Amino acid sequence: MSNLTFGIIKPDAVRAGNHGKIVDRILAAGFKVRGMKLIHQSKKQAEGFYAVHAERPFFGELTEFMSSGPCVVLALEKENAVPAWRDLMGATNPAEAADGTLRKEFASSIGENAVHGSDSDENAAIEIAYFFSKLELV
Ligand code: ADP
Ligand code: MG
Repeated sequence: MSNLTFGIIKPDAVRAGNHGKIVDRILAAGFKVRGMKLIHQSKKQAEGFYAVHAERPFFGELTEFMSSGPCVVLALEKENAVPAWRDLMGATNPAEAADGTLRKEFASSIGENAVHGSDSDENAAIEIAYFFSKLELV
């Protein structure tokens, strides 16, 4: 298990002004923020990031949404970071997300679900490198 994962506070949560609250929750849960910046992805950048989902029926909707406004990208450190961050995020569908999770509190639908988290150590490394240069990681 690696101690690093990658997260995004998605455009719905930034639009709603919830990014500060979500960063607070991340810190309160014991994560160290190793990288953080506000970006506004192009459709092409979002398509590159979500390339594994290219064949899914919601790919167009997902990449439109992810390029619809600013989001916060995060490199997060904690023991067993990948499952720890997914636990804090909650289930993909907020209707199924447990109490106390970020998606339960901040997500509005299965598509606009407030946060992203890597699903493996390997993808965490790829995703951090997609958005951060070495200089931007502390
Ligand atoms: P997770 O983000 O929990 O890892 P997935 O990797 O399965 O979930 O899906 C990536 C993202 O695609 C989700 O976070 C959500 O924004 C979107 N998505 C997933 N399933 C659907 C769906 N059925 N309809 C619309 N958007 C979806
Ligand atoms: Mg996923």
